[in-house]
Amino acid sequence: MSTQTHPQTNGGPPPSGPAAAAGYRLDVPLHSLLTQPLTPRQAPAKPAKPKTLPTPVFPQHPELLAGRETDLDDSVPHVPPSKRHWRAGHVYRTARGWLFPYLRSRVLPGDFHPLIAYLFTEWKCNLDCHYCWAFDNRVKGMTEDVGRRSVDWLHGTGCRVLALMGGEPLLRPQYIHKIIAYAAKKGFWVYLPTNARLLRPEVTDWVADAGVATVNFAVDAVDEKPGLPKALNPVRKNFNYLCKRQYHYGYSIFFNMNICRHNHDDIRQLTEIAHDNGIATDYHLNESPMLEQSHFQHARENETYIRREDWERVDELIDWIIEKKRAGYRMVDSVQRLQEMKQFMRGQVDPWGCRAGQNSLIIRVDGSLAPCFPMYSATYDWGTIEHQRFDTAQLGEMKKTCERTCFSTLNSILAFAYKDAKTITYALRGGATHDLVHSTKGWGF
Ligand code: SF4
Repeated sequence: MSTQTHPQTNGGPPPSGPAAAAGYRLDVPLHSLLTQPLTPRQAPAKPAKPKTLPTPVFPQHPELLAGRETDLDDSVPHVPPSKRHWRAGHVYRTARGWLFPYLRSRVLPGDFHPLIAYLFTEWKCNLDCHYCWAFDNRVKGMTEDVGRRSVDWLHGTGCRVLALMGGEPLLRPQYIHKIIAYAAKKGFWVYLPTNARLLRPEVTDWVADAGVATVNFAVDAVDEKPGLPKALNPVRKNFNYLCKRQYHYGYSIFFNMNICRHNHDDIRQLTEIAHDNGIATDYHLNESPMLEQSHFQHARENETYIRREDWERVDELIDWIIEKKRAGYRMVDSVQRLQEMKQFMRGQVDPWGCRAGQNSLIIRVDGSLAPCFPMYSATYDWGTIEHQRFDTAQLGEMKKTCERTCFSTLNSILAFAYKDAKTITYALRGGATHDLVHSTKGWGF
């Protein structure tokens, strides 16, 4: 048996045949079904009178701006409290976003009860991380009409968690301010991922005043490295202000990091920096695209992909992360999940009961739907906002194949939460909510 490895499977055994040649992870029949369907997906119909998003009042909460000037001063160090106190309103916001919709979904008939929707407001980015295929700068961002109709439609489905996505969402900060304010007013728990280049202090004030619940601070290195421009030092000022203001506004922050083959020291340093600043961390293992991406510039000769010879070093890094978690560092991932990364890296994934298309979904910039981020580029027709067409039988058939090469943290936590009736008790104790809340990644999905 060949011991050759292939970056397309994260260092695991190479896909065989045409899939390997084309550079995607699915087998050829499923890939063809998803990318060459008989009736390709369409965008939702454009109304004669497109809707707009209301212009948010700023500040809605002028009292929360107190102490701003001091927090802007970088010479004043950030000293996080030993224990964070959450106000009752923030606890209720989390329960309203996660727990109540979850319980509702367990008692209502039918299979489509989204708890979380990823709204791709942008498919453009200001950086070029060499592992990332999730941007194409020729594609226009979401319109206000599609953004507003998406939030309204999701609200009607019972969904109350809105994860903004890109590309880089903050390429249009005014748009993001509007959509957060609109969704938060309707009771959504809103999640904002960003590389923070455009997260100037004023932008932090806008999104926080509008009601953002958590900020996914995506960073892979302390200083820029080849292929990894998402670094902390170029955005230190933005980071410092974001950290200092979290207690005033009541949002949380976590570093979202991608373990690649050449950033292991950075991952360790960033973990310590997060701990020193009282914020959490979330880890992903670098993955290549699930579907072929004709616009992806770095599919071949990619210096970020983990290879067979890196496995031991990655194992050591994961063990170090687990040690830190056991020492009390705040992390999104469970110890079990971190351990599973090692198996995934070696291509060993058992069926795990993915809930994408039932309890999670994505909305593309044009308003069409897909079950998950890895399927963003599929042309298969799963419907549009206001007219979803997810079919449990089709999803189940598809997942027999794609689950074998997928490491979606959010969907694996959803799978756990829906596994059996015992999880209702778990949810009522707050366990499922805790896991669900802390699973909100961008991404690895
Ligand atoms: S296993 Fe689930 S999340 Fe992963 S690619 Fe398949 S449908 Fe998407």
